[in-house]
Amino acid sequence: MTAGAMYDFEENGRLTAQAALSILNDQGRIEAPTFAPLPARCTANATQLERYGLSSAALPTDCGVIDYPKSIFRVYRGVVLTALAVLLAQTLTIVALLAQRRSRRLAEAEVAVRRSELARAARFATVGELSASIAHEVGQPLGAILSNADAAELLVKASHPDAGELGEILSDVERDALRASEVVQRLRSLLQKQSVAFGSLPFDATLQCALKLIAPEAKRRNISVEENFDAGNAEIVGDAVQIQQVLLNLAINAMDAMQDTGQSSRILTLGTKRLANGMELTVADRGCSFGSASAPRLFEPFYTTKPHGMGLGLSIVRSIVEAPHGCVGAAARDGGGTVFTVWLPCASELTDADAAGAPHVQPRAPTASHPGNTAPRTCS
Ligand code: ADP
Repeated sequence: MTAGAMYDFEENGRLTAQAALSILNDQGRIEAPTFAPLPARCTANATQLERYGLSSAALPTDCGVIDYPKSIFRVYRGVVLTALAVLLAQTLTIVALLAQRRSRRLAEAEVAVRRSELARAARFATVGELSASIAHEVGQPLGAILSNADAAELLVKASHPDAGELGEILSDVERDALRASEVVQRLRSLLQKQSVAFGSLPFDATLQCALKLIAPEAKRRNISVEENFDAGNAEIVGDAVQIQQVLLNLAINAMDAMQDTGQSSRILTLGTKRLANGMELTVADRGCSFGSASAPRLFEPFYTTKPHGMGLGLSIVRSIVEAPHGCVGAAARDGGGTVFTVWLPCASELTDADAAGAPHVQPRAPTASHPGNTAPRTCS
């Protein structure tokens, strides 16, 4: 049956029970029937309505609907509600984790930007320290150009100017102008505001560029430079300016440490070599080494023992070296002085994410300051 007039058996039962109670209360006296017969009520079967495509909205308002089709929700209401709650909780957890991951990435990117700005500010300070030798490096060729220009002027004013000699003077002027412009160019590339660009770099050639700034300063301080760059064409991953900054910072510290060293020992020794597991740079001096109390603090930001030091050089070195998962360490030398050793993985050793210098990648090599402790890896 789909719909029709039906007795409501529940109502019927209720009224019958009421009648029985009333008889019992009246102690068995049965009088004329007190109750009107139960009217039939309009009742519709929901399953049948649905089967024939009939809408229950068309039923009279007092019409009862029975036998609703059994949906999964009706049958397993408790289980379905629990599952929905678990799903909702999982979704909320995932959304929260994604939001957390995103904000961590943003924070890491922000830290990387701040770090590179700090490194650049420190480069300005380094150039400030080198300003005397830089002024000399630029001033010398400019002075030579001036003298050559004077000589050329005299020659031109002569009754029979010697074209050959004039040509020689002009080529000297050109050479000196190039020399001065190279110094300016080197400074510009060191100080230019540029985003950090990680890429494969020839280790030795990159460091040689920094050496051109170090050499005049060493000369000014009466320090001789010994260089043993033996890494050949081996490549590392990094930013050229930052790698040069590593050498500059270590070399300037080494020269500072030799301030009171006797003339015969004022030697700055720079060396590179290719190891089985990466590339090594050593910067050694014969200066006053740091004490054992200072050793654990050397790479801390703002740790300095110099009257005008900022204490940022070594901490910047460490952050640069650790970006491609390298490490840096310091040790006292036999016979006096200090040797700083930087270890960097070969370009071929790094994954793409490592090579990008992604700050979120965990270091594979130890970040502690002892490269000798790193697990051996092979540069192919
Ligand atoms: P700053 O040069 O401004 O002091 P750094 O971070 O470069 O900052 O160096 C921190 C400290 O480490 C120096 O003040 C010095 O005490 C010590 N140090 C660094 N390099 C050497 C070195 N080659 N020999 C001895 N001590 C050094």
